[in-house]
Amino acid sequence: MAARLIDGKALALQVRERLATESAAVLAKTGMKPGLATILVGDDPASHLYVKSKQKACDAAGIYIDDHKLPASTTQTELLALIEKENVDPRIHGILVQLPLPKHIDSKVVLEAVSPNKDADGFHPYNFGRLVEGHPVFEACTPKGVIKMIESTGVSIEGKRAVVLGRSNIVGKPLALMLLQRHATVTICHSKTKDLPAVCREAELLLVAIGKAKFVTADMVREGAIVIDVGTNKTPEGKLCGDVDFEPVSQKASWISPVPGGVGPMTIAMLLDNTVESAKRAAGML
Ligand code: NAP
Repeated sequence: MAARLIDGKALALQVRERLATESAAVLAKTGMKPGLATILVGDDPASHLYVKSKQKACDAAGIYIDDHKLPASTTQTELLALIEKENVDPRIHGILVQLPLPKHIDSKVVLEAVSPNKDADGFHPYNFGRLVEGHPVFEACTPKGVIKMIESTGVSIEGKRAVVLGRSNIVGKPLALMLLQRHATVTICHSKTKDLPAVCREAELLLVAIGKAKFVTADMVREGAIVIDVGTNKTPEGKLCGDVDFEPVSQKASWISPVPGGVGPMTIAMLLDNTVESAKRAAGML
């Protein structure tokens, strides 16, 4: 079987177009665009690139940006003061603190300082807890994007055997919970899982987020599975590649997402989605 492609880039464009309309409706009702504060500390080139592409997408979707680029020498106290300012600014509906933060700053303390009502990344323990109890408010962007990608195939998640590879707090765990909420039967795998290929072969939905280039090979994939690849790795030649060995796996899967052009653009689109949703909530439009 040659798999059909889940085109994250095209899906993200559709989301941005919908959000542009919704942002215009928020502006018409409140006189304010949905607003996102972006906070970047230090000069990591990859982080600068990520924030720039997020801001560009915001622009296209009619979202106001309050951009903060802070030097690496910024203290934790200074950063917390800025977050507090954004927490109470009525123009701001989402706050993005770009990770990683410099080593002298405790990311956990910083992420918990973001108001749960403006937690566009969905990383605050309150929002994580809401997801665990099955009543999510802000959902983490990458797993939310993966769910939208599965839904775009038209295949129902309900009753499916889903295997999530990876158990990080930002991808694997929240993704497993989102699948469970949609009535999949979910297995979470990690580095201590025994006979991983056999577990993966049970999956009708195989969601991979481990950060190991081309780790998932065709022998680990069930015929007809939907395979979503979250991984972003560099090949020895410096090219971007996923956790899935794309060519051979696409001969067995029914649907597969590529890297690049898969989960990455959808992650950004979901950040915008969370921001606009937050603005609509604040405006009593939800
Ligand atoms: P992470 O925090 O490093 O977690 C990796 C997970 O994979 C861990 O749970 C680890 O198990 C598991 N793992 C590692 N090696 C394994 C193996 N050989 N067999 C089974 N499980 C194994 O990574 P992450 O933050 O979730 O990110 C995962 C990948 O997704 C990375 O490539 C990252 O760059 C990418 N990513 C992409 C986006 C996007 O927007 N496209 C967003 C986020 C992340 P243990 O828990 O046992 O250590």
